[in-house]
Amino acid sequence: MSKRSLDTIVVGAGIAGLTAARALVEAGVRVTVLEARNRIGGRILTHHFGGQPIELGAEFIHGRPPELWALIKEAALETYERDGSQISFQNGSLQRRSEEELAFHLLEDLENFKGPDISFNEYLSSLNATEAERASARGFVEGFNAADASRISSAALGVQQNAEDSIEGDRMFYLRGGYDRIVQYLAGKIIDHGGTIRLNSAVQAIRWIPASVEAIDDKQNFSAHRTIITVPLGVLQAGTLSIEPRPDDIFQAVSQLCMGHAIRFTLNFREPFWTSLLPASPVTDLSFLFSFEETPPVWWTTHPHLSGLLTGWIGGPRSAVLEGLTSDQLASHACSTLARIFSLPVNKVQELLLGCYFHDWKHDPFSLGAYSYIANGGLSAPRRLSEPIADTLFFAGEHTDTTGNWGTVHAAIRSGLRAAQQILNLP
Ligand SMILES: Cc1cc2nc3c(=O)[nH]c(=O)nc-3n(C[C@H](O)[C@H](O)[C@H](O)COP(=O)(O)OP(=O)(O)OC[C@H]3O[C@@H](n4cnc5c(N)ncnc54)[C@H](O)[C@@H]3O)c2cc1C
Repeated sequence: MSKRSLDTIVVGAGIAGLTAARALVEAGVRVTVLEARNRIGGRILTHHFGGQPIELGAEFIHGRPPELWALIKEAALETYERDGSQISFQNGSLQRRSEEELAFHLLEDLENFKGPDISFNEYLSSLNATEAERASARGFVEGFNAADASRISSAALGVQQNAEDSIEGDRMFYLRGGYDRIVQYLAGKIIDHGGTIRLNSAVQAIRWIPASVEAIDDKQNFSAHRTIITVPLGVLQAGTLSIEPRPDDIFQAVSQLCMGHAIRFTLNFREPFWTSLLPASPVTDLSFLFSFEETPPVWWTTHPHLSGLLTGWIGGPRSAVLEGLTSDQLASHACSTLARIFSLPVNKVQELLLGCYFHDWKHDPFSLGAYSYIANGGLSAPRRLSEPIADTLFFAGEHTDTTGNWGTVHAAIRSGLRAAQQILNLP
């Protein structure tokens, strides 16, 4: 088979789509990437402000996933590791956070989860644990997975725990200069090898027969032999991209996954006031701050880099409280919360604020949520999404990962490499 018969349309220029396109063009396949937005990167979105990157989507490299680190090395990008203190605000005071308080052992026990799948809430009810331990574990799962504990699969959480253990997933690293550097690197490689990336091309329909695909946006039709569809789970579920004939197995699998919701915003303060201005002892090495009685319940600084940036995070059903707020409204709410946590007058915190940066992923029509998680009973869904339809339709994206790393950049990279290899393996 000549490489021409592998001509591929990649739908979506997020990290999965760019990874797949890069692998294909380097193998001599003709590739057109169609991207709905006026930018590449998808849920990697870095705002550059006075030399300081502010991430509005993915921020951390979770652990040492080999595909991502190989790319970082190849692109000669610099990283640094996050450390510092974890502080919690409880019963009106700030204190160092202890391992016991985190109730991580309840999650670690999931690694040996056997039997019929149940939701995480059901799993928690079955345990001999205190209410405080259950609340802590629920808060962690909902926050980290952007998930509803009454829907997320315990079996999938077990797979995820094992996957994280195998890559030192409790370590966190940053890309110096911003996550978008990796996206730009991949796009450069695609262009260098003669690939095409078309922005402002929101694909509305894909019509196909075996080995022939037509992708239609509002202006034009594009033809190829294969397509890799990398749009987020939320877009597949919304049905704004029609696929004709409809691959029913794919959509059945899609219905067993959930798009999680999270609100993340970054406040830019004139100075890192928590290191100097607090009435109680200042926290010079603050990394994460947890305040489960407050909204948002999780905050982090740019430690070890000292700056006035403080990011707030709330995931899962609790995020609905802040839904629909503008940046200004989020900032005002956040200043009141921080004033309570740090025992400072609200107007003092407000005076220090220079700006608030936020992207509404839930209402963005090209993401419709933050990232995916597996619904109770749906553990086989990502594998089914990873299987090609008639060697013509291929699916990639973090939601199609088969290694338990859903909802991450490295899952998306893995899925892109897998889809490209499936095409290159065609007889
Ligand atoms: C707030 C937030 C924080 C996160 N933090 C982290 C983190 O710290 N670490 C981590 O590893 N991961 C994190 N993630 C998850 C990570 O960003 C994603 O898992 C990953 O970027 C997904 O890549 P993807 O290529 O699968 O999807 P996307 O990046 O969403 O790419 C899909 C692309 O398809 C395009 N598209 C959609 N519809 C169409 C259409 N009809 N036609 C053409 N194109 C279309 C989109 O515009 C997009 O560019 C975070 C995500 C969010 C939202």
